[in-house]
Amino acid sequence: MNTARNNVDQAEVAKFDALASRWWDPDGEFRPLHEINPLRLDWIRQHVQLSGANVVDIGCGGGILAESMAAAKATVTGIDMADAALAVARLHLHESKTDVEYRQATAEELAAEEAGSFDVVTCLEMLEHVPDPGQVIQSCAELVKPGGHVFFSTINRNPKSFAFAIVGAEYVLKLLPAGTHEYEKFIRPSELESWARHAGLALQDSIGMHYNPITKEYSLGENLDVNYLMYFRRD
Ligand code: SAH
Repeated sequence: MNTARNNVDQAEVAKFDALASRWWDPDGEFRPLHEINPLRLDWIRQHVQLSGANVVDIGCGGGILAESMAAAKATVTGIDMADAALAVARLHLHESKTDVEYRQATAEELAAEEAGSFDVVTCLEMLEHVPDPGQVIQSCAELVKPGGHVFFSTINRNPKSFAFAIVGAEYVLKLLPAGTHEYEKFIRPSELESWARHAGLALQDSIGMHYNPITKEYSLGENLDVNYLMYFRRD
């Protein structure tokens, strides 16, 4: 097997492929991604100029973030291992009239081909689905130009995140299908920062993402206990 494809959990990718047709249904299984997208896009734009930037989105799925960055006039490549999700992403470009280059590849494969090519690397809600997240972070660091910008988001690992991100989101509020996330794969901010530092990425900023079940709205805030984003620059 291609060693650059070793860091793939096929069962995880199959889950996303099985749901591919639902990707752009704003009330479907990916509703949370639709709802958080304006918030995370805003946060990214507070830190980088997307217009004219060469961006790669790692684990792009159906392209919710990738398309929104293309609409902000970035040149966007989206990679994912879920074939059906990529097919849906490509079809949706006809509806949105945006332009994204979608490829089936891992971060490791792209890093072997296009190291140092990108102004911005985004890898959101993906690290908690791979066997070795540190390896993906390393590849993201290789993909970005020196001085370039890297954004990650994932879910923290502690009793509160178990209660909110798994019990609350999947079983009580049913915001996500049961089995979407595995607690053991969640990543503490300190772990993410340490992997990134070893890959030559310096932490610039971080922010938490919260869901209010009463108002049914998401917001950004200081608390990183459950969902969070981190922004790095390559040394
Ligand atoms: N980043 C997108 C989608 C998140 S869902 C967003 O936030 O809107 C997680 C995605 O990661 C899925 O599309 C899944 O297929 C993809 N993925 C999981 N493992 C992967 C791997 N090893 N390489 C590339 N993509 C992967």
